[in-house]
Amino acid sequence: MKSILIIEDEVHIARFIKTSLEQEGYQVHVAHLSKTGLIDAATRRPDLLILDLGLPDGNGFDVISDLRAWSSIPILVLSARSDEQDKIKALNLGADDYLTKPFSMGELIARINAHMRRWPVNADSSSELNLGNIKINLELRQVTKDDMLVHLTPIEYRMLTILIKNAEKVMTHQQLLNEVWGKNHCHQEHYVRIFMSNLRQKLEDEPSRPKYFLTEIGVGYKLHVPK
Ligand code: CA
Repeated sequence: MKSILIIEDEVHIARFIKTSLEQEGYQVHVAHLSKTGLIDAATRRPDLLILDLGLPDGNGFDVISDLRAWSSIPILVLSARSDEQDKIKALNLGADDYLTKPFSMGELIARINAHMRRWPVNADSSSELNLGNIKINLELRQVTKDDMLVHLTPIEYRMLTILIKNAEKVMTHQQLLNEVWGKNHCHQEHYVRIFMSNLRQKLEDEPSRPKYFLTEIGVGYKLHVPK
C-alpha cells in the first residue's frame, strides 16, 4: 500500500485530505508541525509528501531543503493564493508540484495518482519511451511521431529529455534554463518559451491545446504522461 505524509497545521484541512486519500486506498499520516513532519518523513518513509508552506514552527521551504538532502520523494506543495512567489521558490528548492488553496479534492487526487505512477525513466536507459503517438529512443536520440521521424535541434532534444526525466514535475522557467542552457543564461526566460513552442509545434497534435507539454501559468512547464 502506498503511503502519504501530510504536513499541514490546519486540522480540518488535514483531516479532509486524509479521509479522501484513505478512500483512494492510500495509507495516510498527518503531522501538524514541520519539525514532527521531518521526523515522520525519515521514520515512515512515505511515497509522497503533501506539504503546506505556512507552518507555525518555521516554513515549508526548510522542510523541502532538509528533505531534498536525502530524499527524492515527490513533494506536492499547498500554498495560499497570495503566495505566487513562494510557489516558485518551493519548486526551485525541489518541490515537484503545487496546488493553490482552495483546491478541489479531485484535482489533488489526480495529481497524486500521476506522481505515484511516475514514469520508470532512467536517463541512461536504452529503451524506447512512448508518449501517446510519440516515440523517443534515448539510445539512438531519435524521436518519431506517428512513426514519422521528427527532427529536433540539439537544444530541443535536450529540453525534451530533461522534461522526460522530470515527468509530471512542474519545472520552473529558471530550472529549465539552468538544466538546458546552464547557469549563465539565467536571465533569458524567453528562450524557454521559444523552445517549448517549437517542441509543441513538432510533437503535439494541436500545439495550441497541448496534451503533453503543459503550461503552468506564471511558473513554468510540466510534461504530462496520460494514463
Ligand atoms: Ca498553514
